Amino acid sequence: MKEYPEISLDRFDGENLQSAAFFLSHCHSDHMRGLDSVEFIDSLARGKPHVKLYMHDISAGLLLAIDRYADLGPHIVTLPTGEQHPIPIFDKYGKLKYHVCVTLLPAAHCPGSVMFFFEGHEGNVIYTGDFRFHVGEVLSLRPLFDSDKKLLTSIRSVYADTTFCVPEAKYIPTRDECKTAIVDLVSDWLQRTDIPGHSRIAHIFSRSSYGYEYLMMSLAKHFQCKVHVSQSQYYKYRNIPNLTRIITTDPLATQIHFCQRGAGNEVEGNYANAIREKLPCAREFNVLPNVLQIIPSVMYFTKSNVTPNEMLTCVEEKVVRVCYSSHSSYTELVDFLTHLKPQYIYPNVERNSSLTLQDVRQSLSFLECSSHGKENHMMKISVHQILGKSSSKGPGFLNLRTIMFPCLDSLLKLKLRLKLRSAMTIVGY
Ligand SMILES: [Zn+2]
Ligand SMILES: [Zn+2]
Repeated sequence: MKEYPEISLDRFDGENLQSAAFFLSHCHSDHMRGLDSVEFIDSLARGKPHVKLYMHDISAGLLLAIDRYADLGPHIVTLPTGEQHPIPIFDKYGKLKYHVCVTLLPAAHCPGSVMFFFEGHEGNVIYTGDFRFHVGEVLSLRPLFDSDKKLLTSIRSVYADTTFCVPEAKYIPTRDECKTAIVDLVSDWLQRTDIPGHSRIAHIFSRSSYGYEYLMMSLAKHFQCKVHVSQSQYYKYRNIPNLTRIITTDPLATQIHFCQRGAGNEVEGNYANAIREKLPCAREFNVLPNVLQIIPSVMYFTKSNVTPNEMLTCVEEKVVRVCYSSHSSYTELVDFLTHLKPQYIYPNVERNSSLTLQDVRQSLSFLECSSHGKENHMMKISVHQILGKSSSKGPGFLNLRTIMFPCLDSLLKLKLRLKLRSAMTIVGY
């Protein structure tokens, strides 16, 4: 981190091994590089007792459920969200250099995911990790905003999740909209009686290790049942009571399945090579069940512009893709940064595209706010650009319609219903 170079976040190799404090925002493999290396464990052991690895309690539970991270246990300090904690920063001789204050903020990305808000002599800095905030949601962060939604402090820098900082992702359905769509799909599927004698299963397929727990809990709650997961999935969740309550390893115990194959011990990884099977636990059934497969994903949809009425696509018979994201859309990211008014914005994520980190940073620079005097000017620029009058490489692809979400709600729901019906018709079940 530029302001506090002794601090490393979500990177545990190379030069970062010299750091005096480490922070893990969440347990996704792209944020854990070097975390299981001998070099990292050695650097912690050498730095004892000063050098620590800070994270949320749930992340520690997930991490320590994986055998090869067990050695990290003594070096982990877990922190709750919403409270200030002084972090001592020592030099390489073990002499105290300074303190920085950190507050963990919920990031709504996956279990245990947090942002880090640092306050110290070099200014206040927010590192978002991966996050999904809907428009206006940032205003509910009490350490940053008062009850009148007034920003309580000045922010020097935001290191932001820019996964979807692209024109195609200006709109992504909220998780609630997605949940409603999936509940409707599953509900309709389970109620059908056109093929008697076959049990019906709804299988939610994903290649990602974490990030679908919100859906698991929502479906378990709506249908008042548990959801099926594989043994290895159960193993990784075993330290999280909220999840162990609603999951089962008995495939016959429920019609809603989140089971994955190919997880093995790579429980924190993304199973890019995992074979997409209709139902990984199918061999457990005496008679093959009738399976509707639902694939929540967003990359499929952001290949072209995501629009409110295209959040569901039937890709083959009884296979439906649903646009579901644990990362903020472009509109949500702009909203988040607009409210925080940082002096500097640094992207965290480089997409596999022609855009470099510098391009992404440049595209967000209109949101940087070096002084209060510039603030109004910035707002004018942002509205100007949002109206679509900026260059094609800037954020001019937004328009006012996309930021006036409340006005879109009823239209969106209507279109969602229509789309749902048409998807069901196409599937032909
Ligand atoms: Zn992530
Ligand atoms: Zn299953």
